[in-house]
Amino acid sequence: MRVTVLITLLGLVNGCSSDSQAPVPTPQPTPHESNSAPKDLKMEDSKVRLSDEEWKKRLTPEQYYVLRQAGTERAFTGKYDKTKTPGTYACAACGQKLFVSDAKFDSACGWPAFFAPMKNALTTNVDYNLGYARTEVRCARCDSHLGHVFDDGPPPTGQRYCINSVCLVLREKKDDGK
Ligand SMILES: [Zn+2]
Repeated sequence: MRVTVLITLLGLVNGCSSDSQAPVPTPQPTPHESNSAPKDLKMEDSKVRLSDEEWKKRLTPEQYYVLRQAGTERAFTGKYDKTKTPGTYACAACGQKLFVSDAKFDSACGWPAFFAPMKNALTTNVDYNLGYARTEVRCARCDSHLGHVFDDGPPPTGQRYCINSVCLVLREKKDDGK
């Protein structure tokens, strides 16, 4: 973002100081890939807090509905439901690493499931949206809704983190480099 602004400013300065008719090249903005974390969020920022309008600009309508309005994608439709590819699952809203593929298991519930998150990646709170208590899971960095955690998972934790695919971006191991 800053680079784009700088280039734009330089372009304006050039445009003002030039008295020729030569056209000033206009820098092309880099479009966000809809399915990857925003690249202008600095990873050293420990918390990401944006307005609803800013989130709407960054996310697809489905991502906004699930991540920011605590919606749920339809079961068995998510892109990572059956995925076994090695790698790290990051938050689709802010890029924070959330789960490793080694903790993923086939829960047959229709959404990606993990028996444990990465350290300090999540926050939880109880919601009653379906009329009974469920433990909601959110990204600790940007406070986006991810899914729910239940106590019917496999060893070693016995927990099942049931997460919407649309909230995740898989960074495959060969690309991760860490
Ligand atoms: Zn996040």
